[in-house]
This record gives sequence, structure tokens and C-alpha cells, in this order.
Amino acid sequence: MGRGVAYSTIEPAHLLNVPAEGMSAWAGQPDHFAKRFEAHGGDPRGFAQRRFFGRYLGDILDEAVESGCTDVLHHSAIRAEHSNGKWSVKFEDGSVIEAEAIALAIGNQEPEALRAFAGAGDRFISNPWGEEARRAVEDLASNGGDALLVGTGLTMVDLVLSLDSAGHGGRILALSRRGQIPRSHDDFRPAPVEAEEVPHGRVGELWRWLRRRSAEVGWRAAVDSLRPHSHRLWQSLDASEQRRFLRHARPWWDVHRHRIAPEVAATIARLVAEERLEIMAGRILAADRNRDGLEVELRRRGSDAVQLKTFAYAFNCTGPLHSIGHTRDPLLRSLLEGGHAQPDQIGIGLKVDENSRAGERLWALGPLTKGRYWEIIAVPDIRDQAALVAEDIARELSK
Ligand SMILES: Cc1cc2nc3c(=O)[nH]c(=O)nc-3n(C[C@H](O)[C@H](O)[C@H](O)COP(=O)(O)OP(=O)(O)OC[C@H]3O[C@@H](n4cnc5c(N)ncnc54)[C@H](O)[C@@H]3O)c2cc1C
Repeated sequence: MGRGVAYSTIEPAHLLNVPAEGMSAWAGQPDHFAKRFEAHGGDPRGFAQRRFFGRYLGDILDEAVESGCTDVLHHSAIRAEHSNGKWSVKFEDGSVIEAEAIALAIGNQEPEALRAFAGAGDRFISNPWGEEARRAVEDLASNGGDALLVGTGLTMVDLVLSLDSAGHGGRILALSRRGQIPRSHDDFRPAPVEAEEVPHGRVGELWRWLRRRSAEVGWRAAVDSLRPHSHRLWQSLDASEQRRFLRHARPWWDVHRHRIAPEVAATIARLVAEERLEIMAGRILAADRNRDGLEVELRRRGSDAVQLKTFAYAFNCTGPLHSIGHTRDPLLRSLLEGGHAQPDQIGIGLKVDENSRAGERLWALGPLTKGRYWEIIAVPDIRDQAALVAEDIARELSK
């Protein structure tokens, strides 16, 4: 409980992608996690194991339970309805509870299904964070075979680390349209900017500014200088500019903004140098189950030649669901279909107001609120949002 997809991993090679000094769970106590990491011999500017951070979150939740003001139920909520000023929430086991208010903190949704793999059967792992992915990694490590990772972002990095740690001896092909992979953290001299210095409202102008600024102060300093302004910048774009950002800028933004620990980047570079990992820009055309695994047709970017390759498994590493309308989560579906919540202006999350309210006494946090804030997927952003939501809930319930 409390660990979610990101921190329930038990794989030691899975490190945080934010330095320990940025990972406090508490909005007002920036060094809360760093102190604990330091007490265990870690460097506050270094990158802790994600399972270590999971224990930290688990301990905080345990304290909340011990204090008597929090109950924890091990259930999956499948339906929520609001009537006569009350919420009623139904769980998978059929039980129902009533509530004055709901905060949806359900994290990332499973990746979008990939049409090319519709006939791939159990050799295609559509949820890279689930139990079937763990079993597929074990199978690859014990029985060999090559792995195809569709997507080249942070989820791909996680799977490569898991395969390497498990002793997988086969080759790994990681493929995405542009073949861009997350860049490494490194030291840099910060170069803060005032909001007024940054162009608002147009993605093209912002992009040109970012390139100029990167040439002057280095790309890490330029990208990170936008962090305090990111919510306002995103909100200054209208829906068509936000879509333009998602289509053209996002693949570049993500790999520079959400960086990986230097030791993780070194492992990726080593595997590429040993020719065990290939990163390819290209497209999957089709995939079919055959006797040895999966036969996949793919085309390298810029080439007309179709390549046919066989893999023991393919994993969907395209990242969390992009379109809330495609969610398979029954709770979200019931809220949307019941009219209790609406998709945001570009359909990537829920529509929320400035207090992260998605409906009548209904709040949403984290990745579900990407449409309003965009940069709201990592702990440093979510903890501030959580503090504001907690205050707003207290205010509302004391009315
Ligand atoms: C692999 C991975 C690595 C990451 N690494 C980092 C990192 O190093 N640093 C960082 O800052 N961010 C990282 N992130 C971003 C991550 O999204 C946030 O850090 C944070 O975990 C999000 O917290 P959350 O509480 O919103 O969602 P989650 O941590 O995903 O928690 C959601 C919880 O809701 C539960 N849930 C979902 N649906 C239901 C339901 N219907 N009924 C009951 N319970 C439900 C889930 O079981 C889970 O416990 C990573 C994300 C991923 C996927």
C-alpha cells in the first residue's frame, strides 16, 4: 500500500529518476526523504533505489494509520455514484461505502492497446508493469530469445534494466518513431529565468526560445529553468497549441525533462556498446504469433525496406494511456459515463478546476490532471498539489 506502480518494484537496478533531495513526500519539508537516504549512507544529490523510496512511502502511510485518522482498505473501486449529496463507492467484492468526498489518486493508466499486436497472443505483454511482464522477463532470462520493446522512454529503460539484472543473454530491440531515449542527469549551473522572459501562448516561439537558451546556458539549465513556470506556460496554450506540443515537441521534451540517473544511463550505454541493445527509429507494421514466438514486420525510419524479425516476447513500453476516453478502468468509466466527471479540453485526463476539483466533492491528483497542468506526473509536483487538495477538502467539508 502506498507504493503504486513506480515504487512497488523490488528490482534493485530500478532507481529514482529524481535526486533524493527532490523526493520529499511533504510539501513543506524539502529534505524529509534526503535525510532518511543520508542516514542509510546515501548522497542527497544521488539517486535512491525505487524500492527504498517505496518503503519510505509505506512508513508514512503506516504512521497515518497508527494515528487513527486513516483507514486502509485492500479493494479495487469499480464504480462511484453521487446522489443526495453523498458518494457511494462500490468495490470489486461487491461491498459499498458512502463518502462525503472522493480524491482520485489512481495514478497512471495502463498503456494504449497496440493494434499491430492484436494477433500476438500471450507473447505480447501489453501491461509492462504487471505480473505477466515479470514472468516474461524470467522466461527470457531462463530460456533465452530476443525481446522487442515498443517505445524508447522510461518504461523501456526499466525493462532493459530488469532483463539485464535477470541475466537475459539475448538481444533487445527498442523501437519508437524517433528513437529518442531519456538523457542522463549531470551537474549543471542553474540559470533561472523570470516568467516574463519566456514566450507564452505559442509552442513554436517557446521552442525557438528554448533552443537559443540551450545554446547559451546548456540544455539542462534551459529545460530546468522552465520548471517553476511550466503550469502557467501550459495553460497559456490553447487546445490546438497543446495538441501541437503533444504531436511535435513532446518526444523531445520528455527525454530532456525526465532524465535518468547517470548510473542507469551508463548501463544503457554499455548494453548498446556490447550490441545487446539496439535503439531504432522506425515503425511496426505487423506482428504474428509463430512457433518460436512472434514474427514482426518493421521498417526503419527513412527506409522503404521491410525487415522481418523473430522475438520471444514483445513489450508495450509506449508509456501511460494518452487518451482518457480509452480507459479500461471501470471506476473512471463509471464516473465519465455517469456524467460525474468530464475529459479535459484535449482528452488526456480529467477536466479539473484550479483546486483540482473534477466534480461535486470530487478531486483528482497526479497524472489524471495532466490536461490542466501537464507537468504533474512526478513527486515534486504532485506533493504540492496533494497539499493544496487536502486543504481544499478540509475547507469544503467544514462548510
Ligand atoms: C515506472 C515508473 C517510474 C517512476 N519513477 C519516478 C521517479 O523516480 N520519481 C518521480 O518523481 N516520479 C516517478 N514516476 C512518476 C509517478 O507517476 C509518480 O511519482 C507517483 O508515483 C504518482 O503517484 P500517484 O499516487 O498519483 O499514483 P500511483 O503511485 O500509481 O498510485 C496509484 C494507486 O492507486 C491504486 N488504484 C488505481 N486504481 C484503483 C481503483 N480503481 N481502486 C483502488 N485503488 C486503485 C493503485 O493500485 C495504486 O496503489 C514514475 C512512474 C512510473 C510508472
